[in-house]
Amino acid sequence: MVSIPDYMAAEWEAPIESGPVPESGTNFDVIVVGGGPGGSAAASYAAMAGNRVLLLEKRQFPRDKVCGDAVGGKSLRIVTELGVKPLIEKTPHNRVTGITFSSPGGQQITCSLPLEEIQNKEAGYALPRLQFDYMMFQKATEHVISAGGSVIQNFHVKEVIEEEKQIKGIKGNIRKGKNKGEFIFLAPLTIGAGGFNCPVATAVTKQCHNEPMRDDKHYCEAYREYWVDVEGINTSQEPIEIHFIDGVVPGYWWIFPVGENSEGKVVVNVGIGMVTSELKKRNVKLKSLQKNIIKTNPIFSKKFKSASMIKGSGKAAQLPFGSPRKNPPSFQPRRSAMAGAMCVGDASALVDPFSGEGVGNALLSAKIALKYFDKEKHKDGFPVDLSEEYMKEIWNTLGSELSNSYKLQKMVKKKWLMNWVIGKANKKKELKDLLEQSLSSKEAQEELKSTWKLLRLLLF
Ligand SMILES: Cc1cc2nc3c(=O)[nH]c(=O)nc-3n(C[C@H](O)[C@H](O)[C@H](O)COP(=O)(O)OP(=O)(O)OC[C@H]3O[C@@H](n4cnc5c(N)ncnc54)[C@H](O)[C@@H]3O)c2cc1C
Repeated sequence: MVSIPDYMAAEWEAPIESGPVPESGTNFDVIVVGGGPGGSAAASYAAMAGNRVLLLEKRQFPRDKVCGDAVGGKSLRIVTELGVKPLIEKTPHNRVTGITFSSPGGQQITCSLPLEEIQNKEAGYALPRLQFDYMMFQKATEHVISAGGSVIQNFHVKEVIEEEKQIKGIKGNIRKGKNKGEFIFLAPLTIGAGGFNCPVATAVTKQCHNEPMRDDKHYCEAYREYWVDVEGINTSQEPIEIHFIDGVVPGYWWIFPVGENSEGKVVVNVGIGMVTSELKKRNVKLKSLQKNIIKTNPIFSKKFKSASMIKGSGKAAQLPFGSPRKNPPSFQPRRSAMAGAMCVGDASALVDPFSGEGVGNALLSAKIALKYFDKEKHKDGFPVDLSEEYMKEIWNTLGSELSNSYKLQKMVKKKWLMNWVIGKANKKKELKDLLEQSLSSKEAQEELKSTWKLLRLLLF
């Protein structure tokens, strides 16, 4: 297990003091299950709106979270609103100003954002989730406690309390320490932010609506390790790398510089992800696939010749993609809310099916969800019609980008096409410029989504 790697500075090593544990049976305005980025953002927004919040997290911060560690530009507005941005900027991080892509044929292209545009535009960050999530949770704890709420770490939510299709609270336990025991907490609104296996999401989908929660065609497995001494990566400000290489497409292999260790060596997040149904079809293990690339790929074996993996950093996890379902039983991409509950982030399956990014959508969905709750109007329970409005707004906001990314995920399966696109972008300035601008500009990202514009750039 990666506890606190030695490259982490003392600032985020200290346990977060989360205050006294409320008595079992206590009522709150909002209960938030899970203290990742989605849950921390939801708890913060709820507390900032004057609600008495209970934030529950099954682990103790600081804690590692398996991830590529890229916090995309979409997150910036929200981390700013929550007061987390200055904390990030004070700690070591990579401001992502460039991305290198490579195709199965070995062609590479690097797109970079001009330096003068970095501050003004939405260039994202790459920094270990151990660090990012710590700052998010610490800020959420401050917001919640100052609004009269409570935060409990090491609290495992086991199930939701449901009566006549209305979620009324949760049951769970603290397994050790002086507060060890079973607890019940009640609230008119429960936010499910427990990630890909969230107990609230299970209740909202399977338990209460008999709808599927998991679908291998829309789930992804991913594996991550931390490395040092990777050749060509001399500072933590190098471009992040995404490689669509043979044997891995339609998934991809990534190399993201994320910071420096205490000896000044650049720490690199190296990982691989693939849609679960593809992985099962191929019967491969991601860990062995990654080992094989590092050992035998003609380009990457050289890059990793003198590199070493940080012991204990190899871990896998799952990503619930937000790709559109062919015949959704109710809402796209899957049901994420009902009377008394709304799910956010991975608990509502909002990970981008092409890039694998989920942090931005976790933050955004948390912000959207809390807009719908009013503690006075909803003191007898968050109503079903607003839960449906929430699901519709999420799909109206994110549906087109998630659908586009799903198309890109399918496109990447065609190796010849990837070779051609990257080859073309290397030769064609207009296409490379558009790719570069899309790192930070919403307008360029919109243009990239226009099939006609892309085709014109590729063909003519
Ligand atoms: C290998 C990998 C690479 C990835 N790379 C990227 C990337 O580079 N950029 C990006 O944007 N996204 C990436 N993602 C996706 C990203 O990690 C998720 O989308 C993001 O973490 C979602 O945030 P969340 O708050 O919804 O859930 P999580 O981050 O999973 O947080 C859920 C929290 O809930 C807690 N919890 C779970 N169950 C319970 C329970 N029963 N009771 C109490 N607490 C509970 C957990 O301990 C956890 O703290 C990657 C994912 C993987 C697996």
